[in-house]
Amino acid sequence: MEPFPNLVNLMIDGRPVAVTEGTTILETALAAGIDIPRLCHHPRLRPMGGCRLCIVDVEGIRGLQTSCCLEAAEGMEVRTSTPEIRRLRKTTLELIIAEHRMACATCDTDGSCELQDAAYRLGVNESAHPPMQLEIRTPNYTSRDKAIAYDPSKCIRCGRCIRACDEIQGARVLTMAGRGAGSLVTTPFHDDPETTACETCGQCIDICPTGAMAARAGLRRGRKKDLQAVTTTCVYCGVGCQLILQADRKTNELVRVEASPEVPNHGSACVKGKFGLDFLGRSDRLSTPLIRKGGELQPAGWEEAIALVARRFSEIRSESGPDSLAVLSSAKTTNEDNYLMQKFARAVLGTNNVDHCARLCHASTVAGLARAFGSGAMTNSIHELRDAPVVFVIGSNTTECHPVIGSLLRQGARESGTRLIVADPRRISLAGDAEIHLQHRPGTDVALINGMIHVILEEALEDRRFITGRCDGFDRFRDSVSGFTPEIAAGITGVPADDIRRAARIYAGAQAASIVYSMGITQHACGTDNVLSLANLAMVTGNVGKLHSGVNPLRGQNNVQGACDMGALPDVFPGYQKAADPEVRRRFSEAWQAELSDETGLTVVEMMLAAEAGNVRGMYIMGENPMLSDPDVNHVASGLENLDFLVVQDIFLSETAELADVVLPAAAFAEREGTFTNTERRVQKIRRALDPPGEARPDWRIIAAISGAMGRTMDYRDVWSVTDEIAGLTPIYSGIIPSRLDGTGLQWPCPDREHPGTPILHGNGFARGQGLFHPVEFLPPRELPDSDFPFILTTGRMLQHWHTGTLTRRSRVLHHLEPDAFIEIHPHDARDAGVAEGDLLDVRSRRGRITVPARITDRVFSGCVFLTFHFRESPANALTIAALDPVARIPEFKACAVSIRPARPVRPGTSSE
Ligand code: SF4
Repeated sequence: MEPFPNLVNLMIDGRPVAVTEGTTILETALAAGIDIPRLCHHPRLRPMGGCRLCIVDVEGIRGLQTSCCLEAAEGMEVRTSTPEIRRLRKTTLELIIAEHRMACATCDTDGSCELQDAAYRLGVNESAHPPMQLEIRTPNYTSRDKAIAYDPSKCIRCGRCIRACDEIQGARVLTMAGRGAGSLVTTPFHDDPETTACETCGQCIDICPTGAMAARAGLRRGRKKDLQAVTTTCVYCGVGCQLILQADRKTNELVRVEASPEVPNHGSACVKGKFGLDFLGRSDRLSTPLIRKGGELQPAGWEEAIALVARRFSEIRSESGPDSLAVLSSAKTTNEDNYLMQKFARAVLGTNNVDHCARLCHASTVAGLARAFGSGAMTNSIHELRDAPVVFVIGSNTTECHPVIGSLLRQGARESGTRLIVADPRRISLAGDAEIHLQHRPGTDVALINGMIHVILEEALEDRRFITGRCDGFDRFRDSVSGFTPEIAAGITGVPADDIRRAARIYAGAQAASIVYSMGITQHACGTDNVLSLANLAMVTGNVGKLHSGVNPLRGQNNVQGACDMGALPDVFPGYQKAADPEVRRRFSEAWQAELSDETGLTVVEMMLAAEAGNVRGMYIMGENPMLSDPDVNHVASGLENLDFLVVQDIFLSETAELADVVLPAAAFAEREGTFTNTERRVQKIRRALDPPGEARPDWRIIAAISGAMGRTMDYRDVWSVTDEIAGLTPIYSGIIPSRLDGTGLQWPCPDREHPGTPILHGNGFARGQGLFHPVEFLPPRELPDSDFPFILTTGRMLQHWHTGTLTRRSRVLHHLEPDAFIEIHPHDARDAGVAEGDLLDVRSRRGRITVPARITDRVFSGCVFLTFHFRESPANALTIAALDPVARIPEFKACAVSIRPARPVRPGTSSE
């Protein structure tokens, strides 16, 4: 027997080395500590052998070989640096430099330029050859507001940007035009990138070795070597990308953002992380407390503001009881802030009225997965999606809402042979890479999934061993789907029965299959049922607890997972420990030295209704903007206006803050420390790169100050002592202490300080013991189209904007790319309504009315319209319905009935009235 059957042994520069089969000579040399010059090579790209700097001499092979393309073989003898190799490398580099405008003195990349490094190392003579720059056409990346600037005179034609756009991002926008020194990177037909599929991810910038591709707008100029680089976690979505913020500490300005090569993003970012952080330096940041005096918000000192908040909360509590106060915590702020906010509500105010926007996005995930599996979180890890044999994406516009995961899925489908099934009422971009797209009607997910499960059981594709060994409740569940044929499902969903069969066979036939879902599943009055159906589908095929499988809810906000974990919910303490459990209350009561209520608190929507009814009189809102984010915002407005006292803590004067009695200025994510927990349960640090503006403070310090003013000292040395307290009281976070978080972070559950974290849940048994099947009956959306409101409206995000737009609409690049809201309408419906592209539409539901420009597209089917929800001018939630899921209390954002008609004359002589 061979001791190492997959290893090859070779000599490199006289040293014996052993590497696994398939390793290139370049990788072998680098692993052995032998550096070989290279420019066109990048570890994330397929080797090209274009620059020819990495040439090596291999005994027995004629001519010099490019080491990036040559695989190591048994018995090879390789020399990486002979006089001949050094001479040829030097000549090659001199020729490359002849094509490059040596503008180092004025170049931002000076000091971090790979070409400069190689030239220095090889001792090249810059003027060995006359400059060879031929006619350079004006590149098309250079207009004033665009994100990316391309300078052909600095380009060495290595093609790294083009390959990254293809192989990593999957956008395939860039190409090379022209020949020789006159060639340049461009788009096909030199189209403006904004009219192409360019996603402005900035991958081309981060991967460019010379600075020919550079960030153009939004951020200031600056040389990397003069800037301070701080690695931190992105503040937008739940992917939790690690970003390197390069800041000028002298001027306290963010200059540039790079994607970190670490997990979970491995060197990728999206347009928001890369170009959307310039909101940090906006002059309209809140920098001092504001108190309403004479009807106007006026600047005040911290002492006065804190004293006023403490006094008014205390007065309301003694007049009307603790439950007349309510707290909205935040999925945008840190675990430490959320922990202290719920502690403040429970131990200081004395109420469980604490909730946050998870209620509006993934409350049904928490409820549904906890029932089926015992734990309401993503079961597997992000990186597994790249190589999963099958991924079933349902209700997730992944490339726009979780873009780095979206490109991973695209890479999987294109490079790894992943079979992608996409179920979405819209023909989202990922559908283009899917083997099958199930375009079901909004709100019919249960019917679609039950139909798939029916096929799996009918064709005996289920995993019997898994079902009998690891699950309960199968017989009753099987009976519930026995009559749910694909034909019945087809009648409800609009998806052909044969497509349902095909999808079921692909999913069940794989060795491992992963389910990815998001708010298209959860934001329904039947959201918990939708989640339970997906859990049924995974369990019936044994796709839980193993690599490349699982049920994977993609959490929306950067720290929505953490805010839930920290107990910013009305029924659970940190770590999902039930508030109704006397033993749990006793432990927290002892630790916090406070009496704790056993009453389940109010959810977000219930708080607003209680405020409208006068039952909630005071509210403390941290980092949330219910005036845009909640359903049926007219009721939200009347609720907030009816409060006796409203405190809003934020970084900008949001639509909600405008209504407040006191506004408290908070430090933003890049101005402070703490932790976020991403969608794969990975707890990661955020770090301070800038100083907060004016008197703004970290949220946890503000909460502690109010608590102290109300007579309950929260005496923390620094934010990390809050992290330690969390670990002491939260079993799933017990091993998550600050000193262990400096590398890749840790995925919970992490029960002790030696535990490495848990990438895959439910491997050796479900968190609840056995997995539990639930019979799920299909219930249609609460409001269906009728003759008065004949269209079904569904809502969602767009790539360039985030949530209520408070941050992204203040970003120069993001605003330039998508300045306005739009409603997508099918060409047939547009024609019937007499609407042309860009015409203003009057959209009405039973709850409200908005106007918004039309975007005519067959991404939606006839009878369905899609509206983004980021824009205060066209607030989607003036239309949506506050019908609640009976279990999770999540509103039905994804389906309601509307009417549409032109809002003004659309063609000369045509009137809307
Ligand atoms: Fe930030 Fe999400 Fe974009 Fe990553 S994918 S850069 S976390 S918004």
